[in-house]
Amino acid sequence: MATRKPPPRTKTTTPEPVKCGPCGGTGEVARTVRVGRKQRPVGQQAGICLTCLGTGNATD
Ligand SMILES: [Zn+2]
Repeated sequence: MATRKPPPRTKTTTPEPVKCGPCGGTGEVARTVRVGRKQRPVGQQAGICLTCLGTGNATD
């Protein structure tokens, strides 16, 4: 009767962080800058992603 050896421990892999959707993991999103009462768009600027708050990772 051969004694069974216990299976080797598998390395625990650290799960990759889930990228934030709106910013794509960059933590920044392009925001349209509007001015005036008519809210005329004058350009875009990089703004912090409000979904991940700049971390780039999707949070639960
Ligand atoms: Zn984000």
